[in-house]
Amino acid sequence: PRRPAYRPGFGSLNSGGKIPLGLKRKGLRIVVTGGAGFVGSHLVDRLIARGDSVIVVDNFFTGNKDNVMHHFGNPRFELIRHDVVEPLLLEVDQIYHLACPASPTNVVGTLNMLGLAKRVGARFLLTSTSEVYGDPLQHPQVETYWGNVNPIGVRSCYDEGKRTAETLAMDYHRGAGVEVRIARIFNTYGPRMCIDDGRVVSNFVAQALRKEPLTVYGDGKQTRSFQFVSDLVEGLMRLMEGEHVGPFNLGNPGEFTMLELAQVVQETIDSNARIEFRPNTEDDPHKRKPDITKAKDLLGWEPKVPLRKGLPMMVSDFRQRIFGDHKDNGA
Ligand code: NAD
Ligand code: UDP
Ligand code: UDP
Repeated sequence: PRRPAYRPGFGSLNSGGKIPLGLKRKGLRIVVTGGAGFVGSHLVDRLIARGDSVIVVDNFFTGNKDNVMHHFGNPRFELIRHDVVEPLLLEVDQIYHLACPASPTNVVGTLNMLGLAKRVGARFLLTSTSEVYGDPLQHPQVETYWGNVNPIGVRSCYDEGKRTAETLAMDYHRGAGVEVRIARIFNTYGPRMCIDDGRVVSNFVAQALRKEPLTVYGDGKQTRSFQFVSDLVEGLMRLMEGEHVGPFNLGNPGEFTMLELAQVVQETIDSNARIEFRPNTEDDPHKRKPDITKAKDLLGWEPKVPLRKGLPMMVSDFRQRIFGDHKDNGA
């Protein structure tokens, strides 16, 4: 009752999910926290292209100005250096909340962005993660599965941070009537991904390009499902525009062992790339594969780009960033 009703855009605009994406309408004012990051910057490209006004809030912890520099000078684009752990006052219609380091601060950041959503009546989308399923005992993972997370393990602060963020979002939804949307994102790759943050796809691609051995952790039989970033961004936008709270799994059900992934990287970059086995990290989930029936049924969404199609697009971006001297925005 303390919050105004959701009032999308300057008057009429939001479709309430009824106007298909891409249809002409007045622009929305949208905040993208973490918009200078990998996923966020691609989302910003789509929103700007659609005609919306976008405010990126980022502290450049892992993100980079290069990812959004091509929008500088556009009056519909604004970049604010700000840590979402600190409160923030803005007037907006929608909040895509992506800002998140792998540490507990994402809980405070999420609380602040929910407080902002409540105050101004904005719709709030949380980018949660498949990590909420932990080392899953159910396969593939359905949204109704509660997960298997070690609360005191080395990965816990990220996993539990996102689980808490989901809890907060649902509490603000039920208690304060905030319109929330929850996406559970599975491993995503593509242009602009951090080169050196240790994720498996970025590691293998950078290693193959640099003629270094591909480091496979453990026996390499653990699986992941890899989603191309444009598919994810489409899913996030459909979720935001639609009428369903979620949570929704957003991921590509194509499941690969790490050895199979290494093979695809060899095929794509260098058939002579060597593989080197390394000890695995603690609490590494054995399997990960989304059941996306719910997103298919309710959002009309499914991924379009298989690994063998998406990887080459990432490779050319990595090639330029590793070897080229001119900047590439991976658009
Ligand atoms: P990223 O690191 O490229 O982007 C995160 C952005 O948030 C960065 O630009 C960073 O500088 C910014 N940021 C971090 N802490 C901040 C803070 N306190 N205040 C303001 N800005 C802050 O990561 P990404 O891969 O683009 O991930 C985006 C979101 O999607 C994250 O919430 C992540 O947890 C989620 N997610 C990603 C994947 C994936 O495979 N990429 C999988 C599951 C979930
Ligand atoms: N908040 C914010 N921007 C706003 C409104 C709130 O950053 O426009 C922050 C606020 O500082 C607080 C958090 O969001 O830390 C939660 O706000 P809420 O109003 O829900 O909680 P309260 O302040 O009533 O405890
Ligand atoms: N991995 C690997 N080699 C690397 C980096 C990661 O074999 O150089 C493995 C890791 O052990 C895990 C999988 O790849 O089983 C996915 O790791 P990533 O950190 O990319 O994603 P997450 O574990 O968060 O799903």
